[in-house]
Amino acid sequence: MQQTARTVVIHEFGGPEVLQVEDRQLGDPGPGEVRIRHHACGLNFIDVYQRTGLYPLDLPHALGMEAAGLIEAVGEGVTHLEPGQRAAYAATPSGAYCEARVMPAAQVCPLPDGISFDAAAAMMLKGMTVEYLFHRTTPLKRGDTVLFHAAAGGVGLIACQWAKSEGITLIGTAGTDEKCSLAQFNGAAHCINYRTENFAERVAEITQGKGVNVVMDSVGADTFEGSLDCLKPLGMMISFGNASGPVPPLNIGILGQKGSLKITRPTLFTHISDQTVCQAMARRLFGKVEGGEVKIHIDQRFPLDQVADAHRALEARQTTGSTILDI
Ligand code: NDP
Repeated sequence: MQQTARTVVIHEFGGPEVLQVEDRQLGDPGPGEVRIRHHACGLNFIDVYQRTGLYPLDLPHALGMEAAGLIEAVGEGVTHLEPGQRAAYAATPSGAYCEARVMPAAQVCPLPDGISFDAAAAMMLKGMTVEYLFHRTTPLKRGDTVLFHAAAGGVGLIACQWAKSEGITLIGTAGTDEKCSLAQFNGAAHCINYRTENFAERVAEITQGKGVNVVMDSVGADTFEGSLDCLKPLGMMISFGNASGPVPPLNIGILGQKGSLKITRPTLFTHISDQTVCQAMARRLFGKVEGGEVKIHIDQRFPLDQVADAHRALEARQTTGSTILDI
């Protein structure tokens, strides 16, 4: 079968203007692949890093890593999905900003009936990230305290709710008082406006000088140093993003001076590269959503054709929660 699908492609790295909507050929799935017709796809900050070239891609390249829709066809050897089934994914290679695509099946997950396509498109990448941050990166137990930057964002609002459901005290940060209120409404025990307050000083006040067990920092350049100052001795710094720019090179001696700190720089894609792990992560996320412990906030939606405006809004810190592109 040959047909085309509208797809967002970049031919060069740059600003939102390099995002182009094109018709791309759509074939039949080969061994280990599926063809999926999307109902919606999700916007993630990683798409910005790929568009600008911070995370390089071979060009030209389609963008987007998260979507939900109906399986149209499955290739040889695919046993966990069938035509007509609802499905969703966070996956490589990029190319989710499209009407339909052929892609590897391993990271595509059967979607329970109780979860809408929109919610799934808004949560797969962000929610599985929260799953690994809270369950796989370092042991966390009830009563632990975590500092979580950008707590009103897509990953952030899921993290606030997840932490609460696990009995973990989450101190958030966000760039406006309104965003702080939103994070607290969603389960953050405290939220610091890090544009008007020194967050490390506020964390010391809130924790009565003890510091937090873990920092989850996706803001990068602007927050990295202050984040290290928020940790208890033996605490764990999880640096998992760079929304304000990459973290400068680190003199590891500083980890000793600040109290035998640990540091890691994880990515979702290491975790979901194992199909069994990926499907288990998705099932835990689906359970949180179906059980009502985590609600998915779709605070912005744009038509696929207006993907450049969606990127502008995300980079300008104008969004909260998740953003989806309607197909
Ligand atoms: P968000 O919706 O959280 O948007 C990013 C937020 O970062 C902004 O809303 C803003 O919130 C904050 N921010 C702080 N400084 C800046 C800046 N200079 N420019 C832009 N934003 C800034 O995005 P996502 O939910 O998609 O992703 C959150 C982070 O998590 C990203 O850094 C992403 O790369 C990372 N990530 C990492 C993964 C991994 O496995 N390593 C997987 C998934 C996401 P505010 O105004 O409140 O400061």
